[in-house]
Amino acid sequence: MKKFTIIICLSIGLSSFCQERIAYSDTSKYYQFSVNYWFNMHHFLWLESFMNQELDSTLISLEIDENSKNELSKALAYYKTYLTKEDLRLSEYQTAFKNWITQDENTLDIIPTEFVEHFKILTEFSPTYQALFWKSHLEACTKVLDENISIIRNTEEKYVDRITKLTRQFWDFEPIKVDVTFYAKSSTWNPRNRPYTSIFPTHVVMNASGENEVPGNWVELLYHESAHHLILGSSYFIGGTIKDVTEVKGLKPTRQLWHVILFYLTGEVSKNLLQDHGITYPETYMQRNNVFGRYHQLIEKHFRPYLTRESTLAESVENFITEAAK
Ligand SMILES: [Zn+2]
Repeated sequence: MKKFTIIICLSIGLSSFCQERIAYSDTSKYYQFSVNYWFNMHHFLWLESFMNQELDSTLISLEIDENSKNELSKALAYYKTYLTKEDLRLSEYQTAFKNWITQDENTLDIIPTEFVEHFKILTEFSPTYQALFWKSHLEACTKVLDENISIIRNTEEKYVDRITKLTRQFWDFEPIKVDVTFYAKSSTWNPRNRPYTSIFPTHVVMNASGENEVPGNWVELLYHESAHHLILGSSYFIGGTIKDVTEVKGLKPTRQLWHVILFYLTGEVSKNLLQDHGITYPETYMQRNNVFGRYHQLIEKHFRPYLTRESTLAESVENFITEAAK
């Protein structure tokens, strides 16, 4: 079901206060997608402050008037003082703010004390964001959903079936919450916009800007992100087996092996499903972008047999780690 909500703005003094938060939503069997006005604004300000401060760069290419420039500078000054160093995925504050600003109720009547100042900054910047940036951000977010929703609906059941068998872990009972924002997360070592996920509960943030020219890429990334609740660093079947094998066999664990396996399994399952769906998809995200490039041959060699049920997970893990350490 698709839903458009017109953002209703009430004028409060000089600023405009938008009460409706979710501008667009859509669902599939396993996912609940939203495009949230305030969360998009927050990502825009965070990333612009990050680009200014950490990379001496900017996201803004359009000409903006003096008044808007001042409003933007005020908001960015707050972000640079308090938020730019707070990682969008790892910081406790950012996670708490995300949970509050993206909650399902569509009004923001009660503002927790710790967010009052931050939300005031957003409210003051809101007229400028609406006038200059929001329209294009909303359009891009709805476009990426429209382009991918039927692929998701046609492949998600098979995806969940296959990935839960490979990870031997139950999929979330509730549809997974997915917020689509124009800009997502960057770091100094990887300044590209990337989706990110927090778990317990699973909440995926997918970006609409950049890297969507490869049909199927967005779906693979969604499937990767949402599988983060199935594969943890040192528990559950995959992480637990890595720990078990390395302890018993006295092997030094390969750093981030759980994430290499997550990329490989979700990528290969997605690639097969996308190809079955008629999409030309010769390489996974991991292959196209050389993610964990030094392990590509080894993971294919030792985990293809796991995918095809010719080796156990423990055998694949042991063989991989032994050869990677050589
Ligand atoms: Zn990941």
